[in-house]
Amino acid sequence: MSDQSPEPFRYDAQVDPGEKRQFRYEVGETYLGDPVEIPVTIINGQHAGPRVFLTAGIHGDELNGVKVLQEVAARFSPAEVHGTLVCLHVVNVPGFQTQQRDIPIYDQDLNRSFPGREGSNTAGRMAHQVYSRFIQQCDLGIDFHTSTRNRTTMFHVRADTSAPEVQRLAEAFGANVVLAGAGDVGSLRTVATADGIPTITVEMGKAHRFQRPLIDRGNVGVENVLAEYDVLPEATVAEPAWRKVLGGDQEKRWLRADTGGLVEMEWGPTPLVHEGDSICTVSDHFSTEEHIVEAPFTGILVGVLENPVALPGHPLCHLARIDTETHTEIEAEIDRGEFDGYRAFGLRWMGDGEEAE
Ligand SMILES: [Zn+2]
Repeated sequence: MSDQSPEPFRYDAQVDPGEKRQFRYEVGETYLGDPVEIPVTIINGQHAGPRVFLTAGIHGDELNGVKVLQEVAARFSPAEVHGTLVCLHVVNVPGFQTQQRDIPIYDQDLNRSFPGREGSNTAGRMAHQVYSRFIQQCDLGIDFHTSTRNRTTMFHVRADTSAPEVQRLAEAFGANVVLAGAGDVGSLRTVATADGIPTITVEMGKAHRFQRPLIDRGNVGVENVLAEYDVLPEATVAEPAWRKVLGGDQEKRWLRADTGGLVEMEWGPTPLVHEGDSICTVSDHFSTEEHIVEAPFTGILVGVLENPVALPGHPLCHLARIDTETHTEIEAEIDRGEFDGYRAFGLRWMGDGEEAE
């Protein structure tokens, strides 16, 4: 890449090599006829290289990634960048304004609406603007999410690792846990990946919060990716101490409540649970009945319920099976204090539920 000359980044205007531009891009209108505008940062490097998109707030109440993008957009300058960074700071602006996941009023999920099209419904039109103007011009991308409210999940990456270029991207990001799979129809990652733009989803923390340890990890992940693709040729990829790619349903399972009632979490202080361990109890209000939910196999808790009430069928926790080698690595990390305060600290690794991407 370095022997090529850098090119302008074109949307319906252009950002020249060596230019950093921060602006708002109109993707719709309010009831008042005012523009709905996405905050955008484009950093076009002085040197040629890949074009990387970063998106956050496709679900309007998922905020940790919004903070990551604010920091990434402020940190890098065209002088050091080989390629282009395209940051869409808050994609679902209407949902962000009302602090909810979906586009308000008709509850359309923007992350099931890609690539969108002209003449479609509100979500489809917004998706079309975003996808055709910015995403299609890029070579790879990272889409930041958190949990749906009332739940929380371990910091992890979701990626269709059956494609080698996606696997490279997922590995470079450097999360300990990668959930492998194609993703939902109409999600940005599924559509972009199928379009030849390798894309991963990062799940980090809960909705409605800035969680500093997770935001720091998100920043490290972005820098790892930029290092891997020589967008930042001076940087190096920081390898995680352990890595687990989880594929089929054999390896991960949502444990669900069979009775309604009050939920008391019993697991901890680390997310490592052994077969037969009590993960939580579900009790009735008179304390006459108590159901203990045990780990069906040894694994790590990738996601747990936070709101301490349940109905039959509610997901209580998402357990991922681990092999002996990973078990040994995690135990070594526990000995080194990596998980100190894990539960008390508001589940510092935790992000999203299974269907929340
Ligand atoms: Zn989400």
